[in-house]
Amino acid sequence: MDILDELRKEVASCTRCAELAANRSQTVFGDGTAEAEVLFVGEAPGKEEDEQGIPFVGQAGRFMDKAMEQAGIPRSKVYIANTLKCRPPENRDPQPEEMENCAIFLAAQIALIKPRIIVPLGRFGLERMVGKKHKISEVHGKPIRRKDGLIFFPMIHPAAALHQPKYREDILTDFKKLAKLLKREGLL
Ligand code: URA
Repeated sequence: MDILDELRKEVASCTRCAELAANRSQTVFGDGTAEAEVLFVGEAPGKEEDEQGIPFVGQAGRFMDKAMEQAGIPRSKVYIANTLKCRPPENRDPQPEEMENCAIFLAAQIALIKPRIIVPLGRFGLERMVGKKHKISEVHGKPIRRKDGLIFFPMIHPAAALHQPKYREDILTDFKKLAKLLKREGLL
């Protein structure tokens, strides 16, 4: 039992997006400890995530685990969530209306976890967390500090590394930069 359990139950019975609710095996709420200092915000569950009910357990997730391990960031420091809690059919892009429908759940996760650093993974996470004015290719690996002290640290989506090897190095480097930022902030 933790502070996220009530919210997890609410998400599990959500039918705001009729198409997503009809096609999902289950919702994918998030994974990690509510005490995490860092919150990763991905895009949406894929096939394996939908089957297991856990975010980032597929190929992209395995690469992310490796990158995190190489950078020396323990899983216990992070919470992993997505902009959408349901898998879009055929892994299509999340639709603006779906992101809007699901936004209250992500906002509630943030309010309960109170992370010090939010890591948007890819353009959908970036758009939802920081807005549309930034391009992920320009801002990845660079902290954006909000007036209230919350830090956004955008990263290229780990799935990009599976298709384009040049992103692989960028992602591995950005995870190392994230580890340095955590140390500077006294979080690692
Ligand atoms: N990609 C995402 O954005 N989220 C997941 O949970 C898995 C893959």
